[in-house]
Amino acid sequence: MAMDRIDLMQSAATDSLTEAMTRRAFEQEADQLISLALRHQHDLSCIVFDIDHFKQVNDRHGHAAGDAVLKGVASVCKATIRAGDLFGRIGGEEFAVVLPHADREGAVAVAEKIRAAIASQPVRSDHGVLHVTASLGSSARSIISKDIETLLAQADAAMYQAKHDGRNRCVSWSSIHGDHAIGARRRVLKAGSILFNDRRSTIDCTVNSIGGISVSNTTGIPSEFVLAIKGEGFETNCRVIAQDRQHLEVAFK
Ligand code: GH3
Ligand code: MG
Ligand code: MG
Repeated sequence: MAMDRIDLMQSAATDSLTEAMTRRAFEQEADQLISLALRHQHDLSCIVFDIDHFKQVNDRHGHAAGDAVLKGVASVCKATIRAGDLFGRIGGEEFAVVLPHADREGAVAVAEKIRAAIASQPVRSDHGVLHVTASLGSSARSIISKDIETLLAQADAAMYQAKHDGRNRCVSWSSIHGDHAIGARRRVLKAGSILFNDRRSTIDCTVNSIGGISVSNTTGIPSEFVLAIKGEGFETNCRVIAQDRQHLEVAFK
């Protein structure tokens, strides 16, 4: 009975076509890895990818060929990542990877490895040899991005940027949300000001180069404001995308 129960649990957690984890199982295990990463203060990052022009594969060669491509792409991805990484099928032809101990640069490197492997290894099936590519987005955990929904949403936004930029490429979430504007030096703190209420209200803050803003208390700060970093002559409109009592994560407008 115990073995039957384990089999049943495993089948619910694994997608039968690709042998990747189902979305639900992936999210549950990812949240456990994120809790560990937070407790031990280690890096963790996430990659989302979607096969390019996949509808064309189905339309030209049939649904069975499409299924063969999904299986092939999943096996190429699994062969590229490490045993401790999580790999899930989170949608029809959308997959995600969680990389414990990888920071944002590490995630970009792994995303590029997956992209190159998919592009260079055609899928051999009953329908002939099929070439496909994928677009990838990556994101890394930060003080604010500390649950899998947020990390997936960020990686997903980056992946859509990769599609928009021409497909068969990787985009990091940080690169589209402008922390390059603050400077590539990591974890450097800068003194800044949050301006709102037609610039009549000012709150001092520190800004780190991973895009996080710290304040003594976020209460009363509106969802849109101007962020100024005096020393840098930097000023931009921001929109809050996540916050807790002392931290804000923003998108630049
Ligand atoms: P894009 O490059 O923008 O991603 O183009 P696309 O054609 O891949 O567009 P989209 O992501 O919207 O298409 C997804 C298609 O994947 C639509 C759906 O019919 C197909 N699909 C979803 N799940 C399966 C599956 O399990 N098997 C097969 N064969 N096809 C699937
Ligand atoms: Mg697609
Ligand atoms: Mg899709």
